Amino acid sequence: MDDKTMNAQITKLRERLRRWKKIQTEKDNLNTEEEEMPKKFSVWNDYKDEDKVALESLAAGYIDFLSRCKTERESVVEAIKRAEAVGYKNLDDVIKNKIQLQPGDKVYCVCMKKTVALFQIGTEPLENGLKILGAHIDTCRLDLKQNPLYEESGLAYMDTHYYGGIKKYQWVTMPLALHGVIVKKSGRVLNVVIGEEEGDPVFCVTDLLIHLSQEQLKKTADKVIEGDKLDVLVGNYPLKEGSKESVKKAILRLLKENYGVSTEKDFLSAELALVPAGKARELGFDRSMILGYGQDDRVCAYTSLVAMLEAAEVPLKKTACCLLVDKEEIGSYGATGMKSRFFENTLAELLNACGQYSELALRRALKNSFMLSSDVSSAYDALYANAFDKNNVAYLGKGMVFNKFTGARGKSGSSDANAEYVAKLRNILDKNNVHYQFSELGKVDLGGGGTIAYMMAEYGMEVIDSGVGVLNMHAPWEVTSKIDIYETKKGYSAFLSDI
Ligand code: MN
Ligand code: MN
Repeated sequence: MDDKTMNAQITKLRERLRRWKKIQTEKDNLNTEEEEMPKKFSVWNDYKDEDKVALESLAAGYIDFLSRCKTERESVVEAIKRAEAVGYKNLDDVIKNKIQLQPGDKVYCVCMKKTVALFQIGTEPLENGLKILGAHIDTCRLDLKQNPLYEESGLAYMDTHYYGGIKKYQWVTMPLALHGVIVKKSGRVLNVVIGEEEGDPVFCVTDLLIHLSQEQLKKTADKVIEGDKLDVLVGNYPLKEGSKESVKKAILRLLKENYGVSTEKDFLSAELALVPAGKARELGFDRSMILGYGQDDRVCAYTSLVAMLEAAEVPLKKTACCLLVDKEEIGSYGATGMKSRFFENTLAELLNACGQYSELALRRALKNSFMLSSDVSSAYDALYANAFDKNNVAYLGKGMVFNKFTGARGKSGSSDANAEYVAKLRNILDKNNVHYQFSELGKVDLGGGGTIAYMMAEYGMEVIDSGVGVLNMHAPWEVTSKIDIYETKKGYSAFLSDI
């Protein structure tokens, strides 16, 4: 081999080595990028001491809210109280007094005490669209029937019809509290909360003892406790006379003396629900999580509300809205559900109160809006790994969750957010250092669920499902992670200020 040929060979080898090195570096870079994907780490790793106070105070406020507001009515009362404290006015009063709303003004509108919409007027005309945070405040529970009370073998029971999708066997042998209202013929409303205070009695659905359960335990889990058997035990003490149904009569007497229920017929005009009794709690040795009833969807409702009320001091360009609705768990039907015209009608009133109303302005306001339709997402549960797609599931402790689509069996019934909108949100979230993850409810064809997103999408606005990951969703006690709640609230604030 002559020098010339050898030199040429060396140059070739050097070139090959250079290319190989380049490929290796690119590979390394790729690996680093992979490491930085949100799925690969827990947000707790990125959590700084200065976040601690804000995170813990948000969690404490949330635990208190969960513990006190267990029905949609209670949640609406609390939302109004907090809104009024930062200057919100009732839209009905604004209409009645013919007040013209100005940018920066804050109003709320209530639908039948169960759904509420809050607005903060922006500097831009409403027809440019709103930014909407939506969540639901109804939760799974056992509703009392209209003729609930009966006696059987010396025990008084109340008959229930469960509300929402529940595993019925989870609701037996635990303390239950009674929440709701009884409306008298005069129109007077009696508010009922029994079973939450230390000295209060509680209620309970009984189950068959294990010793006699051979037959029962052969049944499939959906049959082991039938919906019809979810009757709640409420009394055993008879009136002295020993007459027929004397335990039931004794209960009615107590209801009259202590709770203002003058006749059994008062139950006809009542809305009473049995919910798990007791307060929400911190969960785990490290207190990193929260165990509480009704976190679906009060975790999103609370964080949306807090973000909305915090924005009260900030001048906004686009009008902001926080919408807390009823009846999501049973299909969003009825006047207080998302399928009603409440939101559209309220927006029309708002346009009018701002001196901007026309049918076209209303249509444009709806079409040009952006929404985060918030609901809980099923988080990965290592004990039931087979139900999830590991790469497309939410994890506890990995931040705010987005579901580009929901639906089931071939995305049927889903509202699929546009890639352009998702990109816009990624930009806002990254700019504001919000940790987030994208997920699906579970494995393809294993199940599915819906939210209020598709109803708002019908107006032609940009909508995506977002929210917080939850373990044992729809169980009497659900689990969330404090850091996810914190990141989600950060996400809502970023959305309200930046979109
Ligand atoms: Mn929900
Ligand atoms: Mn639900």
